[in-house]
Amino acid sequence: MESPVTLEKRNKPLLKTEISFIIVHLLPLGALFTGATTFDWIMCAFLYVFRMFWVTGGYHRYFSHKSYKTSRWFQFVIAFMAETSAQKGALWWAAHHRVHHRYSDTPHDPHSMKLYGFWYSHVGWIVGPDYKETDYKTIGDLTKYPELVWLNKYYLVPPVLLGVLVTMLGGIVNGGSVAAMFTVSGFSSLFVGFFLSTVLLYHGTFSINSIMHKFGKPRYETGDESKNSLWLALITLGEGWHNNHHYYEVSTRQGFFWWEIDITWYILKVFSWFGLIWDLKGVPEYIRRSKNKQEAIALRKELELQKSA
Ligand SMILES: [Zn+2]
Ligand SMILES: [Zn+2]
Repeated sequence: MESPVTLEKRNKPLLKTEISFIIVHLLPLGALFTGATTFDWIMCAFLYVFRMFWVTGGYHRYFSHKSYKTSRWFQFVIAFMAETSAQKGALWWAAHHRVHHRYSDTPHDPHSMKLYGFWYSHVGWIVGPDYKETDYKTIGDLTKYPELVWLNKYYLVPPVLLGVLVTMLGGIVNGGSVAAMFTVSGFSSLFVGFFLSTVLLYHGTFSINSIMHKFGKPRYETGDESKNSLWLALITLGEGWHNNHHYYEVSTRQGFFWWEIDITWYILKVFSWFGLIWDLKGVPEYIRRSKNKQEAIALRKELELQKSA
């Protein structure tokens, strides 16, 4: 029988501090007044996929787990691109995610669905007052770069610039001139191309924190509730192999077998061919084929013996 756990007190969100989060969710409805063009819908789909890649390949696989190496200038590019998702600073994201792995599905986990329920793990911990600050103690390897600390503080700069760019493109493509960005032509791109894709991106990312610790199948014994799911891997470009990831978090790839589609991994591989990133980490055979850590140690010895024989 499981022993009872003492949960941490988690404070409820204050409406006045979360008004902007609500407005972002309502702004796509502006399209009811402006309509939306084919260009706006293409922009919406493109910005979802494009930014999901930087969320998973940047915030997650680089800043949180350091699963590959890169140069200082490209590290800044990764942080900037990831922050266009409007999911706060790269250092904020990485700090909380590292805590999630350390305490997965125990009371100190910022977003355990098992302990704190679906809504809290999905969005409550983000809009609540308890996790607003960046815990710099857990990310000493990142705080030594002042440009990252700056970008973490001014995390609204990248999404605002992207929003302006999308509106401008809307003006040009839908309205025939840059000045048309201040008309319905620009606003329909802003509402659908930018804001709708931002909201979809929020909930695609949040679903990893919530339902990825509930629905799907666990392949490995990780001591938490993490699961693997193909359809979540598709909408999150590879993050759906979450049980794999909790079992062996240092790996750059989260699909451990060729049939586990992991689009972020494929794109990162292409980046490495161009020398933008390097030292990508794969999955050793003893990890892939074992069920738990004890089995992995035994299998590793066995494979080493076979090699030396
Ligand atoms: Zn992780
Ligand atoms: Zn997790």
